[in-house]
Amino acid sequence: MKQNSVFPTLSKQYLFQEIQTRRDAFQATNPEKKLLFLGIGDTTQPLAPSIVKSLIQTTQELGTAEKYVGYGPEVGEKQLREKIATVIYHNDFSSDEIFISDGVNSDLLRLMLLLEEGVSVAIQDPTYPAYFDTARIAKDANISFLSITDGPPDLTKAPEGSLVFLCSPNNPTGEAFTHAQYEKMVSIALARKLFIILDVAYREFIRGDFPKSIYEIEGAKKVAIEVGSFSKSSGFSGVRLGWSVVPKELCYENGSPAHSDFHRLFTAVFNGASILSQRAGLQILSPEGEKEITTQIDSYLEQAQLLREALRAKSFSVVGGDQAPYIWVKMENKTSWEGFDYFLKNLGIVVTPGIGFGPAGEGFIRLSGLARPEVISEAISRIQAM
Ligand code: PLP
Repeated sequence: MKQNSVFPTLSKQYLFQEIQTRRDAFQATNPEKKLLFLGIGDTTQPLAPSIVKSLIQTTQELGTAEKYVGYGPEVGEKQLREKIATVIYHNDFSSDEIFISDGVNSDLLRLMLLLEEGVSVAIQDPTYPAYFDTARIAKDANISFLSITDGPPDLTKAPEGSLVFLCSPNNPTGEAFTHAQYEKMVSIALARKLFIILDVAYREFIRGDFPKSIYEIEGAKKVAIEVGSFSKSSGFSGVRLGWSVVPKELCYENGSPAHSDFHRLFTAVFNGASILSQRAGLQILSPEGEKEITTQIDSYLEQAQLLREALRAKSFSVVGGDQAPYIWVKMENKTSWEGFDYFLKNLGIVVTPGIGFGPAGEGFIRLSGLARPEVISEAISRIQAM
């Protein structure tokens, strides 16, 4: 059996495992220090009451002969696909263009399987590191980076016919693309025959006047796939639920539609998201569920903003916190890992080094506003006492 030749070329550990290793090593030699974890961007608030109720109800139903169900459709229950098409996409799509998944990460891998080996992939930089690893592992992709240091990614720099990964609101910078920026990107993508995968995992955090979906832009259905998640908006990072939109208008350069391939692939490699998650997804998208998750999201954003202001008061240059729960901090005269060590050793705060999000993240660190309130307030006290 021959090994996938990509593995020896990858960094030894996925970013967040590396952070954990360093954090544990520091804690082992400094057992008295109480560390605050603002590194990994995981949710911490309990599930909202109506969502818990829905999970219990489905569980009870599964315990009855009348309402028991086994496998559902691989692509997801029709009711949830319809609800996403209606509530999230305002009936701009038919329900069969929505594929229900167990989260963004596994769909990234499935989507890569649509493409040829060695495909050219251009990635917004900095951004969520899973795009890079997935493209390399699945397709030995030829990767280039599109820096967002001086504005939105310049898609004229993406190789013609390549796949482009975008994320808005962006993890780690916490910033979202404007309508005009999307328009420009879609028009370049149409002209240069690019495929875009846009990750909208943080769409529900958008509070400003920014599109929540690339499909608000004319022509986007011809070039873009959107991947979404309930992980951050609804605390489903453990429960697991997401979706992908693959428009029927989206075609490869030979004119054949990506939608039918994705359907074929999905039904071959996936047996569907958990029925519990899917039924709870319906509740999340109900007016009651939406109200509950909006309250949670508001409090995460508020925490991110409080952290941001505490750092600004200490003269750090910081962005983010308005459209996503992350803040992005410039570490003057330091590398990202030096910034990581600085926060760990001086403040006992675990952050994420920006370099883990791509080359343009060098010299930055990311702090997450998704931590517990008491952790955030202790972190702010420590920053203020700096
Ligand atoms: N996309 C982005 C931008 C993320 O930051 C994360 C998690 O941090 C994910 C996707 C993961 O989503 P899921 O839990 O649906 O796999």
